Amino acid sequence: MGGDSTHHWQGVLNCALDAVGHTPLIKLQRIREQEGMKCNLLGKCEFFSAGGSVKDRIAKRMVEHAEKTGVLFPGQSIVIEPTSGNTGIGLALACAIKGYQCIITLPAKMSLEKEVMLRALGAEIVRTPTEAAWDSPESHIGIARKLQKSMPGAVILDQYSNPQNPLAHYFGTYEEIMTSNLPNKSISVLVAGAGTGGTITGIGRAIRDNEAKRTTILAVDPEGSILGGGEPGTYQVEGIGYDFFPEVLDPNPPVVDQWIKTNDEEAFAMTKRLIRTEGLFVGGSSGSALSGAIRYLHSSAGQAIADDPTANVVVILPDGVRNYMSKEWFLETAKSAQKDAENEGSGEK
Ligand code: PMP
Repeated sequence: MGGDSTHHWQGVLNCALDAVGHTPLIKLQRIREQEGMKCNLLGKCEFFSAGGSVKDRIAKRMVEHAEKTGVLFPGQSIVIEPTSGNTGIGLALACAIKGYQCIITLPAKMSLEKEVMLRALGAEIVRTPTEAAWDSPESHIGIARKLQKSMPGAVILDQYSNPQNPLAHYFGTYEEIMTSNLPNKSISVLVAGAGTGGTITGIGRAIRDNEAKRTTILAVDPEGSILGGGEPGTYQVEGIGYDFFPEVLDPNPPVVDQWIKTNDEEAFAMTKRLIRTEGLFVGGSSGSALSGAIRYLHSSAGQAIADDPTANVVVILPDGVRNYMSKEWFLETAKSAQKDAENEGSGEK
């Protein structure tokens, strides 16, 4: 299909870029049972990828495509990218291996862990004010554009408009799901958060182009983002939601059937459950996607799917909690999990 092998990592790989994607699809069995659901609840666990997130896929594909089409020249070009961090890590990883200079512009709210990883990969970091509107000269996008103009050989691959972003999911992520041993080989419900929208748009289009039975496609968006409706505001979850509609996002049917809004509190509570009960080291946007999915499955529209043991609900879990170890919400999560464990222990004996 899209050229990427869909097999899990096997044998000796040539470099870390070969360990991008090919992530496991894991049953969320305990959460499914706790919620009283019969459907197959599955998480696509992107933190297993080499750079630790779903965005490694687009970074690799955008760099390789730019090399093939003469946009990037090894040893000469400079890669600049505005990102919430994970695309930056994927790009910096590719640049470290291939020998490109890399500059990442990153809003202030994004975690220290992401910045330190980027620095360790040799990238230069420019922090920008979180509250700057996307089209202001001070935003991560504005600063990246200004830097590019002043640096000969600098290229912005631009995840917000680059067709290789959704294509990385159309060919990679979707194919992996369908070539796994998914029972019935069909997805009943697909759930993903949206930042650039590359994930939901790419997988969504691939589903529509190939589906035998209609899949429900749900996009999850934090309160404070305008993508799924509502007013712009602040929130802590990183990597999802924006104050503008990126070009690569197709927010409407037939690609996206419905938008679900989630808040920080439910996102972090579900992140804790994913770690504590499923042993999955996921980040905040994973909790956000799963809490949106569960809310839908308990709604009148989703109940029939929740009760159907042959239905597959696939939730994209975009990154890992090791991106967020120093964040207050994660320290609180760990404390609260400890308390729960103590209470469970004393109650049983
Ligand atoms: N979660 C996290 C942690 C991310 O970094 C991103 C990418 N911004 C997303 C979700 C959303 O992915 P996409 O850009 O494909 O919509």
